[in-house]
Amino acid sequence: MSRSVDESAPRASRVRVVLTLLGTLTVIGVEFLLLFGVYVRSSPVADQREVVSRVAGELSMATPTDTAALSRSLQDAAAQLRDLGASPEQAASLTSAATSLALGVDSPVAARDAVAELSTELADRAAVLDVQAGLIYAGMLVVASVGWMAWFRRLVSRHRRLQAEVTEQQALAVSESRLASLVRRSSDVIVVLGTDARVTYASGSAVRLFDAEVESLVGSTVHGRVHPADVEPLVALLDARPEGDSDVGFRLQRPDGRVVHVEGVFSNLLDDPAVAGLVLTVRDVTTRVELETQLTHQALHDPLTGLSNRRLFGDRLEHALRRRGQQAAGLSLVFIDLDDFKDVNDRLGHDVGDQLLTEVGTRLRTVAREGDTVARLGGDEFALLLEGSDVEEARAVAARVHEWLSRPVLVEGHSLTVSASIGLAEVPAEGITGADLLRNADVAMYMAKDGGKHGTAVYEPSLHSAALDRLQLRADLERALEAGELVLHYQPTMDLHVPDHGRPTVHGFEALVRWQHPVRGLLAPYHFVPLAEESGLIVPLGTWVLQEACRAAVSLQQPGRPHVAMSVNVAVAQLTAPGFVDLVRAALAESGLSPRLLVLEITETAVLAGMDVVAPQLSRLRELGIRIAIDDFGTGYSSLSYLRDLPVDVLKVDKSFVDHVVSSEQGASLAEAIISMGRSLRLTTVAEGVEDEGQAAWLTSAGATFGQGYLWSRPVPLVQAAALLQSGAKVAVPSS
Ligand code: C2E
Ligand code: MG
Ligand code: MG
Repeated sequence: MSRSVDESAPRASRVRVVLTLLGTLTVIGVEFLLLFGVYVRSSPVADQREVVSRVAGELSMATPTDTAALSRSLQDAAAQLRDLGASPEQAASLTSAATSLALGVDSPVAARDAVAELSTELADRAAVLDVQAGLIYAGMLVVASVGWMAWFRRLVSRHRRLQAEVTEQQALAVSESRLASLVRRSSDVIVVLGTDARVTYASGSAVRLFDAEVESLVGSTVHGRVHPADVEPLVALLDARPEGDSDVGFRLQRPDGRVVHVEGVFSNLLDDPAVAGLVLTVRDVTTRVELETQLTHQALHDPLTGLSNRRLFGDRLEHALRRRGQQAAGLSLVFIDLDDFKDVNDRLGHDVGDQLLTEVGTRLRTVAREGDTVARLGGDEFALLLEGSDVEEARAVAARVHEWLSRPVLVEGHSLTVSASIGLAEVPAEGITGADLLRNADVAMYMAKDGGKHGTAVYEPSLHSAALDRLQLRADLERALEAGELVLHYQPTMDLHVPDHGRPTVHGFEALVRWQHPVRGLLAPYHFVPLAEESGLIVPLGTWVLQEACRAAVSLQQPGRPHVAMSVNVAVAQLTAPGFVDLVRAALAESGLSPRLLVLEITETAVLAGMDVVAPQLSRLRELGIRIAIDDFGTGYSSLSYLRDLPVDVLKVDKSFVDHVVSSEQGASLAEAIISMGRSLRLTTVAEGVEDEGQAAWLTSAGATFGQGYLWSRPVPLVQAAALLQSGAKVAVPSS
């Protein structure tokens, strides 16, 4: 950043000054000479006039007798005039007057006239000389003042010019120093390169960015410090030297090993004489780039397993489909859903569940080949994108997934085994969207699940409608909950030992949920409860059932009659959900139902699946004063020892035992054993699914406390349940 200086300007100005001075001096000198000439000429005339006036004075005062003396005076005066340079005629006029006077030819009067005439002549001459001197003086004044004026004007304009130059230079200096200081202090790094890509200038901030001293930077090539992968485009840009500014971004490989991301502008200032170089103005954007990378990674990856998430998987799938458009290679999807993973979460808690999912992710990575995409689509759903593989290869991959997953996983002291249901889908010949392919694999996975889990199914178009129905149902159920399409029916439990006119009396009711589907009509729980359990919808669904059943129970109470109990089925996911005890307490408080009239039914299998978590939870519920029933007792487990450890009040003997009490001896003895075991544990027993009088009679004699079944009533809406109470359940009301 230098400034070009015109060296010849001051010299020319000096020459001009000297010439002006010389000119002025010459004019003044000439004027002086002329003035001097006038002076030289006028000075004797004055003396001459003095001589003449003295003689004239003498003549005026002289008497006529003094002629001799006057003649001498005139002679002297003539001599003096000659000495003073007067003209001979002038001197001669006095000499002649003196002679005439001396000779007495003329009188003093004549001499006086001659002197007067001479005096006049000299006065005229003096006047002429005065005029000349005045003119010369005036001329001198004019010349001098014009000269001085011109001189002064030039001085002023020169001064102004100089002043402007100085101001301009000062401004330039200020802006240059400001610029220099800005460059020095700027956090942006300015690097000027020559055409050979060597650094000719580097600003102070380059030290931190390059981790090198400015001295060592200057002279070195900048791409020697650039990350090898970014050298080529940078060199291409430096070679192309585009006009104006171009955006640049590259990575620096620093001596300390750090890779720094820089971004900025490349400017070709080769034509700017002040710079004459290729300028890189860059700044460190590593923090931003790293954050962006992190955010992008976060947006596209599952935080738990580090696998691709649904979004990235979808992108990769679309890309693969597009790439495949040009080739004939196969493309398959493997859709993996863990079997009963919910149980692990419910039983062992989410931490264990998370660790298990992480391990599944690791194993799937092991199974996948390089180039395959492994993703966690959400929850316990995983997927593999196999590029270049047909369905047979996908089948082999699925087999390896089953094999890897079957190996036990040790998590927090628990040895867990997981199995998965796997759906496979291949790109059909006519082409397909990514979303459809994924849905096909999902459909196939559902088929595998329905086929008994731990298996693999390949998508076939015929599968589609059945599986879609199921998916549709799941979506509908979510909506149904909000739309109030769920209803409760109530089935009475009969007290077998307090007969009313020889018939058992209603002890209480069990609330059983139904779905009033807008298209499919009233749906029984088996259509949707397993689906709700699978999707987690069972928690909000169960909450609604509990609250509704409590309210119904209160409405069924009649003054002067025995209290009516209400049984509510509770899924294990509800029981283990945080705040369940508070929820029950709130439902009781809200409805005003006495805790001792509420029975919560938990299936035997559910209890056994999560004993560690369930047992303490049951104790807390019991502390509220409510009773706990084991539902479907006898279907879940061979060992009955757990009953001793569980805080339980009621055993509901499964229908499968009741079914055979009359028809088979073995059936009868099994049911008898259960009932007597219940009695020995001081538990109330409820026989489920009592359909005929024979069963009822047998159960009563075997000591079962209560009975429940179509014999007395099917599950019915609340109004009918109330009517049943009135009539003493004499009529079995046909319902669902
Ligand atoms: P569960 O709790 O064992 O309920 C008894 C089931 O047996 C009811 O079926 C009832 O209608 C049926 N049943 C009663 N007596 C007889 C009979 O004499 N013969 C025959 N064949 N069946 C009889 P439902 O209402 O279809 O309920 C089925 C299951 O759905 C219930 O079995 C329960 O496990 C579940 N469920 C129902 N409502 C809910 C609920 O609100 N929450 C939860 N988590 N599960 C529910
Ligand atoms: Mg039940
Ligand atoms: Mg049952």
